[in-house]
Amino acid sequence: MEGAVERTIEYCKERQAFGGPIMQFQNTRFKLAECQTKTAVARAFLDECIAEHLKGEFTVEKAAMAKYWLTDTQGEVLDECLQLHGGYGFMQEYAVAEMWTDARVQRIYGGTNEIMKELISRSFK
Ligand SMILES: Cc1cc2nc3c(=O)[nH]c(=O)nc-3n(C[C@H](O)[C@H](O)[C@H](O)COP(=O)(O)OP(=O)(O)OC[C@H]3O[C@@H](n4cnc5c(N)ncnc54)[C@H](O)[C@@H]3O)c2cc1C
Repeated sequence: MEGAVERTIEYCKERQAFGGPIMQFQNTRFKLAECQTKTAVARAFLDECIAEHLKGEFTVEKAAMAKYWLTDTQGEVLDECLQLHGGYGFMQEYAVAEMWTDARVQRIYGGTNEIMKELISRSFK
């Protein structure tokens, strides 16, 4: 997410449309602001999970929360970054295309995100 947002900001400064960089459009800036915010929140949560793991305090429920929420958020952010690249976002020559593909499978392997929610819900009992 961090790498994709960084690259997308650079791309939006460079890509010209309607007489200027696509960063001139408020929609572009708002979408990037959302992506950057989601990425910062994800980093804070991930760091907290790592700290708990190192202290031996990381629970199964929280690991499932991390896997499901971080990969769902990764999917949202990567999809937006690809969209902001336009057609080039779908070309393998651009890093965001591979990042998007890599992001999509994260919600499936290692246990699907539906199964992660099942694991979280077991703590309700
Ligand atoms: C690139 C890649 C690499 C992989 N590497 C490994 C590996 O190294 N080692 C390994 O062991 N496995 C590996 N896998 C397998 C991976 O872990 C499984 O694909 C994953 O756990 C999902 O299982 P499944 O494909 O059988 O899907 P299914 O279990 O058939 O699920 C299909 C759909 O039904 C949903 N579903 C299933 N059960 C429930 C339920 N109880 N409640 C609600 N929804 C449900 C799922 O969420 C999913 O949406 C890999 C998969 C991929 C794609």
